[in-house]
Amino acid sequence: MVQLLISAAGQAHRASFLDINYTTAYILCIAAFIFALICQVRVKTTFNKYNKVRSLMGITASEAARRILDSNGLYNVQIARISGSLTDNYNPRTNVVSLSESVYDSTSLAAIGVAAHECGHAVQHAKGYVPIKIRSAVFPLAQLGSSVYFIVFILGVIFSFEPLVDVGIILFAFVVVFQLVTLPVEFNASRRAMQSIDNHGILRKEELYGARRTLTAAAMTYVASLTVSFTQLLRLLSYRNRR
Ligand SMILES: [Zn+2]
Repeated sequence: MVQLLISAAGQAHRASFLDINYTTAYILCIAAFIFALICQVRVKTTFNKYNKVRSLMGITASEAARRILDSNGLYNVQIARISGSLTDNYNPRTNVVSLSESVYDSTSLAAIGVAAHECGHAVQHAKGYVPIKIRSAVFPLAQLGSSVYFIVFILGVIFSFEPLVDVGIILFAFVVVFQLVTLPVEFNASRRAMQSIDNHGILRKEELYGARRTLTAAAMTYVASLTVSFTQLLRLLSYRNRR
């Protein structure tokens, strides 16, 4: 994909969306940034809204997480508290599902959705879900790319050394690829979460919407991140084409 993007950039006259001019790319970048801001606000407001709705069963998010993990044979996965808001995560290295303060003891629809989602990631790791393996493999490249792409790109521009500009673009493309493979991982974790919540009767059928809406809002932030990165990639390519 990276090679395709770069070779296409080199032949801008044949390309379609890569033929984009700098101003258009810049406007798309700003639009993507606004979209990302809206998604960030939305995930917070949706969480707060459904964190006020208590579930009828009264199971706490941490109890729900334990139930889901155990039912998948993941007795070795620990559940811990973590400070902050919406900091919930699963760490495959320590095998710990960390739930934030507003989630851990909560019996709300939102908290149960979030806890079940993180358990979904633990199950993905345990079952060798392929996209999460690809994501883990791309991660070091994306990390390297995000930290050095800009300096490499700028040095290429300053010294008018095109290969360096290309390397900068390729490095950034790793970030885009990483965010792209993050999407199936996140959507799948949410799908597993909703199935577990339903199968174990943690929420009643008529309560599922609250967890689902919370998880959908969270998933949209990943779509937004990808959109921001993709438009930034277009901006780098358009800058290269302009020169
Ligand atoms: Zn997730």
